[in-house]
Amino acid sequence: MLRFASMQAAYSPVRHCLERAGLTDEWSTAAKAYAEAVHRVNEGLGLLGTPKYQELKDAAKALRLAANDAANRLDRHKVKHGC
Ligand SMILES: [Zn+2]
Repeated sequence: MLRFASMQAAYSPVRHCLERAGLTDEWSTAAKAYAEAVHRVNEGLGLLGTPKYQELKDAAKALRLAANDAANRLDRHKVKHGC
């Protein structure tokens, strides 16, 4: 019973905001995808000047914008919702 009570305390309504959790997930996934794309660009330095390299760079750029967008949406939610 004690254990159950302490678990409930850890999940106050504000801390346990589903929308925030969803946005955090999206941001985390987007940030990870961007990091992987950057890694591929670095690995592809031997392809410098080829269309394939440009493709890797474009993909990384798009993922960076997506990760920024996800971070902004999470920030806006936190401000608006106070969570
Ligand atoms: Zn919230």
